[in-house]
Amino acid sequence: MSWRDNLIKIEPYVAGEQPNKTDFIKLNANENPYPPSPKAQKAIREFDSTTLKKYPSSTAKELVKAIARREGIGVENVFAGNGTDDVLSLCFRAFFNSKKPVIFPDITYSFNTVWCDILRIPYETVPVDEEFNINPADYRRENGGVVIANPNAPTSIGRGLDFIREILENNRDSVVIVDEAYVDFGGTTAIPLLSEYDNLCITRTFSKSRSMAGMRLGYAMACAELISALMATKDSMNSYPVDSIAQAAGIASIEDDEYFRETLKKVISTRDRLTKELRMMGFRLPDSQTNFVFATHPDISAREIFDHLKSKDIYVRWFNKPRISDYLRITVGTDEETDRLIWELKDLLLEVGWEKKERALNAGWTE
Ligand SMILES: *Cc1c(COP(=O)(O)O)cnc(C)c1O
Repeated sequence: MSWRDNLIKIEPYVAGEQPNKTDFIKLNANENPYPPSPKAQKAIREFDSTTLKKYPSSTAKELVKAIARREGIGVENVFAGNGTDDVLSLCFRAFFNSKKPVIFPDITYSFNTVWCDILRIPYETVPVDEEFNINPADYRRENGGVVIANPNAPTSIGRGLDFIREILENNRDSVVIVDEAYVDFGGTTAIPLLSEYDNLCITRTFSKSRSMAGMRLGYAMACAELISALMATKDSMNSYPVDSIAQAAGIASIEDDEYFRETLKKVISTRDRLTKELRMMGFRLPDSQTNFVFATHPDISAREIFDHLKSKDIYVRWFNKPRISDYLRITVGTDEETDRLIWELKDLLLEVGWEKKERALNAGWTE
């Protein structure tokens, strides 16, 4: 027996690479290519740093107020945390204390399994179909909780209100977490269902649509009872409320709807152009409701494309995992970044096409 036997045994979540150089195109972490709202930037610049001597509001009161106002719900229905990851891990602790397994799709945000492992929460994954669709009827089984990302990651597929409603109807006795990290890019929010279902908890992040991944801001929306359970959990686990600067920047971002919409419009239009271009090159990909695409090519492996792009200083995400190892998750960048990406992909496909032709010629037959 050694202390080593008592060490934690866990496979951590692996984030997209942060290369140690300056001149590269980073399309591997679904970050927004545009800066945060100028109003959020101003709030940070003009933040009165002498106030840092005091602890922040432990409930992020003003930020919660701003979020509640924007989403049209009560302040008692909002919980703010240090990024969705913080909020989700508190949700798992607060809501999933059953002996029955928590269920979620086999292809979804990979943090789910990490949290279940470290918190010793039993879980089962439910396979998505061949087209990566989640079938709500599969969520009609005994469980200790349900987690659905809508739109889902890394598949980029978003579903409508009826889909979430069916999952909620099937699971009246479990908390259903709906992770809406990407909803602003064209998904359908479950907010209208909050007043009908007290077992629904929606999470959101400032990291993607609000260009503030470096700030760590996220929130949950649910009935007052679930929000209270989250508060109690947070106050027992740690004393890490959202820091004062992040609260100020978050409020300014929430209140700048114009810039928010403008940025989303740009990302969405670039995404739709990228989707078209990829399909013309022979890639197969579902219609995306997020700020990334999930694409596969019949003639060339995802691994090969990943390596080629990396050699050209373009970083995308490849998951060496069952069912999705033929796919690349590519974040939507600026138009210029997207042009570079398309150019490099065309170049690679041309090369592959030539090699194929040459092999055919060598084998002694022509087209
Ligand atoms: C990015 C992401 C998150 C985490 O967001 P943070 O607020 O940066 O922690 C949560 N869920 C999904 C599906 C995501 O893609």
